[in-house]
Amino acid sequence: MITAISQSTQPGTLPDWRQGLRDAVTDAHELLALVGLPELANRLPAADAGFALKVTRSFIRRMRRRDPRDPLLLQVLPVLAELDEVPGFTDDAVGDLDAIEGHGVLHKYQGRALLIAAGSCAVNCRYCFRRHFPYAEELAAGHAWYEALKCLKADPSIGEVILSGGDPLVLSTKKLKDFTDGLRDVPQVTRLRIHSRLPVVLPERIDAAFCTWLAELPLQRVVVIHANHANELDATVAAACARMQAAGITLFNQSVLLRGVNDSADALVDLSERLFAIGVLPYYLHQLDRVRGTAHFEVPDARARELAHAMRSRLPGFLVPRLVREVAGEDSKHPL
Ligand SMILES: *Cc1c(COP(=O)(O)O)cnc(C)c1O
Ligand code: SF4
Repeated sequence: MITAISQSTQPGTLPDWRQGLRDAVTDAHELLALVGLPELANRLPAADAGFALKVTRSFIRRMRRRDPRDPLLLQVLPVLAELDEVPGFTDDAVGDLDAIEGHGVLHKYQGRALLIAAGSCAVNCRYCFRRHFPYAEELAAGHAWYEALKCLKADPSIGEVILSGGDPLVLSTKKLKDFTDGLRDVPQVTRLRIHSRLPVVLPERIDAAFCTWLAELPLQRVVVIHANHANELDATVAAACARMQAAGITLFNQSVLLRGVNDSADALVDLSERLFAIGVLPYYLHQLDRVRGTAHFEVPDARARELAHAMRSRLPGFLVPRLVREVAGEDSKHPL
């Protein structure tokens, strides 16, 4: 049984993650049938608002059947509200377009450079800033990585490289290794950080080859997983995290505060507790980037602060994520 196999902490026996990626559901009717909600079909937007539905079967298996308010379903199902034009919600809400230096390199913060390593993801999250980002032109993968490495080499202030995207882990381990091989000529870089949702939405991605690549890197390694709700973190995700820990990786989580998904003290406390139970520390809780088509997910700042206060009063300090918002032009994430 695939579920039993992918719960293994031994990476040798996992299903092929590329197959899991290819098998992702891209048809809303199929998704609704799988979760037992075919009657919701008449509430789907006629067009996909320029951002296709995409979700792994692994993630769908963690959704509750016949629950139109399931917190995982709400993150991936297109809804009519995405078509609303809401003032203040724009295409480049975080100012990334101004910060791109070379091929896919974003250098906004001191000491850290972020690489747009891939243009796609294993899931399309409806709240994502990526909805409107012109990734096709900003790929750091493949040939452009050579240019990205040149860009890093030329800047001695950069000690940490962050692979982001899109999702860097949709790239083959071979491609990732080619890049880190190139980093050998960039001695000032001592830390590699990967931001990815694949450990959550496609945990079999954390396979033997991936763990070996990271274990053997002569760099400090950090993986920031992206989970928004405790229900995302089933035994297969726990096993993937255990495999990464065994490879010497420090694990953090980053979430987005999302109306209807995790905007309650109970949901946020459960998420932090569940993360720690699988060896992951909460890092950031992001206020939504004000991206066109996502206004229905927004939680007002006052409510966000209330929730942060509730978390502080119910959790040890190390399980309280920093509540931040990304503000264009600032030199760090902006604490709320
Ligand atoms: C968020 C972000 C980082 C990382 O910021 P940390 O506070 O170190 O997590 C780096 N570069 C860019 C462009 C970012 O958006
Ligand atoms: S970049 Fe992250 S939030 Fe956006 S679609 Fe990809 S996995 Fe989802």
